[in-house]
Amino acid sequence: MIHPKPAVGQALARSALDRAAEHRLDQAWLDEAWKEPRTRVLVLAQGRVQWSGPEHEPRLVLIGSADAPEGERYLLGVDPDGVTYFAVAVDTLPEAAEGIREAQLYTLGTLLDDRDAGLLVHATGLHHWHRTHRFCARCGQPSEIAAAGHVRRCVACGTEHYPRTDPAVIMLVLDADDRCLLGRQPSWPDKRFSTFAGFVEPGESLEQAVARELHEEVGVVATSSVYVASQPWPFPSSLMLGFFAYAADDRVHVDGEEIAEAQWFSREQLKDAVAASEVVLPGALSIARHLIEKWYGAPLDENNHW
Ligand SMILES: [Zn+2]
Repeated sequence: MIHPKPAVGQALARSALDRAAEHRLDQAWLDEAWKEPRTRVLVLAQGRVQWSGPEHEPRLVLIGSADAPEGERYLLGVDPDGVTYFAVAVDTLPEAAEGIREAQLYTLGTLLDDRDAGLLVHATGLHHWHRTHRFCARCGQPSEIAAAGHVRRCVACGTEHYPRTDPAVIMLVLDADDRCLLGRQPSWPDKRFSTFAGFVEPGESLEQAVARELHEEVGVVATSSVYVASQPWPFPSSLMLGFFAYAADDRVHVDGEEIAEAQWFSREQLKDAVAASEVVLPGALSIARHLIEKWYGAPLDENNHW
């Protein structure tokens, strides 16, 4: 399997596994894979996992299936060496041995290697969905896990429910002078600036969502938008679709609710503002950072993280 190499700011768009979706309904294959001694299991509880190793280079704690606790199992995939990976969801993580700590995806996302990042993004997304979709949305009866964790099936009416992914657009606004517009949400600390974002509504195209959100939040009229990149954002279940949006002019009118202030920056102005700590940019976990640096043409202030 070939996975496109994501750029910085797409830390959650990494993977080193084949998801092996063709085996999800094959119980004999799943049972055999589970019993295989090389099989590795990631244990999750309330979105938390265990890790070991140095803080700047954490590795997920993956155990053999013989040592795994009882819990719902999700098939995560198979690596190029033929090793199968499962996640097991439990209420409480096992007691940690010496040198083992707990964390969640939000903390570990940029630090893990491709394999572990892919495992944890996939498992975190499924885990949250299972925890919050115990009942059938059609008839209200309990549903149960199926397809190795990728479906829930209603025990009463048989309806199949699939993991939910909520598309959200995230956009860097550019003007005719190739300046970018960054904004600050009211709840953010002073100086923290980022791109604009919002959920796609039913019946809306991505381009329409980009234009609507920009008009609502900052009064910008977007004449066009161009797709740049995407990454999953399982906090709890979004897929962020990144765009450059082109503004008709430089007029800005912030709504004061979702956005408290917004400011245009040339590359020079942004570089100076970041260097002087007058602007704090989004951290490397967010695709916002990738959009800003793609426009800027180089990394900006590598040390900054939030
Ligand atoms: Zn039902």
